[in-house]
Amino acid sequence: MATAPILKMSTEIAEKIRQHGSETYPNECCGALLGRDGSGTDGTTTAGAVQLPLREIIALFPLVNRREDSPHNRFSVTAEDVRDAEKAAREKKLDVVGWYHSHPDHPARPSQYDREHAWPWYSYIIVSVANGKPAEMTSWRLSDDRSAYACEDIAIRDRAAR
Ligand SMILES: [Zn+2]
Repeated sequence: MATAPILKMSTEIAEKIRQHGSETYPNECCGALLGRDGSGTDGTTTAGAVQLPLREIIALFPLVNRREDSPHNRFSVTAEDVRDAEKAAREKKLDVVGWYHSHPDHPARPSQYDREHAWPWYSYIIVSVANGKPAEMTSWRLSDDRSAYACEDIAIRDRAAR
């Protein structure tokens, strides 16, 4: 698993995901993660600059949860959402690298539904929202053969410029 990329984002992006989750509580929020794959340091080693595969989240594209039948425990991304998110990404010269949604009053673990509706390659962030307050945030990635849905490391950092 040495080549598993780390998901990197600023505290500002992490805060926006959490906020979206509390705004839509008790329903789920969802949105696209815009960013790019590359390499860099995760900043945790004292030995110096170790180059690691990194997936960086640079912007968000919030979506409207269209699951009116069961908006509190299902989220689904439509073909139209994908098109809109990809257009927004292109305008910023970024890619859609994943999706986020919240789990109101449930742990930040993928449901059976999440796993069955996931696509390989994308990162899936889940933020748990307990009593309206954002809690744990995790990220998941489905293997190409769909046999594993593994947790990814999230690195939240203040922007270096500050
Ligand atoms: Zn879910």
